[in-house]
Amino acid sequence: MDTWTEIEGKRIHDPLFLKQYQQKSEDSYMSASSTTTSSSSKQCNKVLGPVIVGAGPSGLAVAACLKEKGIPSLVIERSDCIASLWQHKTYDRLSLHLPKKFCELPLMPFPFDFPPYPSKKQFVLYLEAYAKKFGINPSFNRTVISAEHDKTLDQWRLHVIGPNKEKEEYTCRWLIVATGENAETVTPEIEGLTEFSGPVVHTSMYKSGQHFEGKKVLVVGCGNSGMEVCLDLCNHNAQPHIVVRDTVCSCKVSVH
Ligand SMILES: Cc1cc2nc3c(=O)[nH]c(=O)nc-3n(C[C@H](O)[C@H](O)[C@H](O)COP(=O)(O)OP(=O)(O)OC[C@H]3O[C@@H](n4cnc5c(N)ncnc54)[C@H](O)[C@@H]3O)c2cc1C
Repeated sequence: MDTWTEIEGKRIHDPLFLKQYQQKSEDSYMSASSTTTSSSSKQCNKVLGPVIVGAGPSGLAVAACLKEKGIPSLVIERSDCIASLWQHKTYDRLSLHLPKKFCELPLMPFPFDFPPYPSKKQFVLYLEAYAKKFGINPSFNRTVISAEHDKTLDQWRLHVIGPNKEKEEYTCRWLIVATGENAETVTPEIEGLTEFSGPVVHTSMYKSGQHFEGKKVLVVGCGNSGMEVCLDLCNHNAQPHIVVRDTVCSCKVSVH
């Protein structure tokens, strides 16, 4: 549940970072597992059903499927809303990158009149309707900082920081981690970056190209977000350049 673990998890799949971070990763896993906390000033909550960490699309889907089977659950979310990635960490022009048939959640299709690639606003509206339909009311502004399993009691013990920075404890028999793969920003350590005097913006903080009109912008990375941000910058009369670490594959597509 430690946020660094997620970032390291991403880097573990990256051969260029693998060597550099392997040792660091091992060290941090060791120290995380040996952390001890005092429970004297904590509020303790026993949850009868499963606890789901994260109120993104995955967490909501799990809660709905459990509800459908008559199993209540508690969703704990560190942000102040459902789908916080979509609501707080995405650019204005975003629409689903995949056709809607691949993105809908179980038990409730997208509205029939949604376009093949719903906008971010439509997707959030759909998720809000989904949470309402299944009566999912996450416990917001609570960050799970660690989870440990007590084998003797067969219970998970979660340490949580509450809305006013207070320590809380939750115990439950089942724990579902739905904290996402894009929930943490990863900014690469680029030599010389600290000496660069202009703004450095991670895509999770980028909203629109209107702030970059007439400016030269270097976009690092050409995944979906990098490409789309470049297009957005062009549309707002900025002068973007894109830097790509690997080769770019292009293929010929014949249309019949
Ligand atoms: C630009 C962009 C475009 C995308 N387009 C598509 C698309 O078209 N189709 C598609 O299927 N996917 C797309 N994705 C992928 C995206 O990851 C998924 O849409 C979806 O958001 C994943 O849902 P999730 O619930 O697994 O994770 P998230 O949406 O990341 O939700 C995880 C939640 O867990 C919370 N959380 C994290 N850590 C803790 C903690 N310690 N304690 C409490 N809460 C915590 C976070 O605040 C967050 O709300 C896109 C992503 C991006 C960035």
